[in-house]
Amino acid sequence: MNIRIEKTTNPKPLPADDNPLTFGTIFTDHMFIMNYESGKGWHDARIVPYQPISLDPSSMVFHYGQEMFEGLKAYRAEDGRILLFRPDKNIERANNTNRRICIPEIDPADFLQALKEIVKIDQAWIPKRPGTSLYIRPFIIATDPFLGVRPSDTYLFMIILSPVGPYYPEGLDPVKIWIEDEYVRAVRGGIGEAKTGGNYVASLASQVKAHDEGYSQVLWLDGVERRYIEEVGAMNIFFKINGTVVTPMLNGSILPGVTRDSCIQLCRQWGLPVEERRISVDELFEAAENGTLEECWGSGTAAVISPVGHLRWENEVVQIQDGGIGPVSQKLYDTVTGIQLGRVEGPEGWVVEVK
Ligand SMILES: *Cc1c(COP(=O)(O)O)cnc(C)c1O
Repeated sequence: MNIRIEKTTNPKPLPADDNPLTFGTIFTDHMFIMNYESGKGWHDARIVPYQPISLDPSSMVFHYGQEMFEGLKAYRAEDGRILLFRPDKNIERANNTNRRICIPEIDPADFLQALKEIVKIDQAWIPKRPGTSLYIRPFIIATDPFLGVRPSDTYLFMIILSPVGPYYPEGLDPVKIWIEDEYVRAVRGGIGEAKTGGNYVASLASQVKAHDEGYSQVLWLDGVERRYIEEVGAMNIFFKINGTVVTPMLNGSILPGVTRDSCIQLCRQWGLPVEERRISVDELFEAAENGTLEECWGSGTAAVISPVGHLRWENEVVQIQDGGIGPVSQKLYDTVTGIQLGRVEGPEGWVVEVK
């Protein structure tokens, strides 16, 4: 793919070393952009100065939500290399999302080239302090100026970049989780396994409620029986029960996280039994009661591993690890971040160098 490059003549100052880099608030100097048109395919790939885009108010994305996104990070290794973590998994998932919501697929080689080129151009923005990285947000929106429900004939694919600090500046602090008993996020056959904004808008009311009650995250139950654990909105969820690592199986309504897959592979490598299966909230509270609920953590690109110290469901509350961090959560965090930073040798192909 040929990428036209127009560099900014007016670069922004880089964030100062002591800038906390609050997640998703600062954007780099450039962005990648490419158009799609029926009959013509994806075309006009370019990297241009970061800038607002102009859209017709009738653009379909505003009315019917045909949009997708991805999220991954670029890291600066100690030896100076720039590393991406399993970008092939994000690209594969992007095209799975595209198929589900009728967006034309992107050639995986073109997608990877676009990721590498934009990161290379803005590499000065990759922060170096421990725990920091450059968050990469690829996304596609439907742009036909049309009111009516059908797949759009035109799209924009863009990639923007944001330097981010550690998700938990104070270190791995266990979070409090609200198990939602009123609303549901997704149902089997719906769009729960696609990375698309619609799933997030469905989660807002519950998130607001949980925040008001002093909880930082919402854990979703299945949309039919409302008994089986699904995931945490932007993270997948793991439990260690009686020596076995248990995580909900991918059933169509859960987002297949890259970090989730990495946790499963690493635990198995370490000889820990891992079960991907249905797990009911009753089983969970029973395990908590009889003392076999040993650990709980969330997994996702933003925080990598997020220990869970407290769960609330209806009027019941459980404390896990006395609110501290469990050994498996800690080992996963150290190993995954070690691989991402090129300090620890991971499985074949997990890090991809940008050069
Ligand atoms: C992105 C996302 C995750 C985490 O996936 P990773 O690939 O590990 O970052 C989990 N759940 C939802 C709903 C997501 O959108």
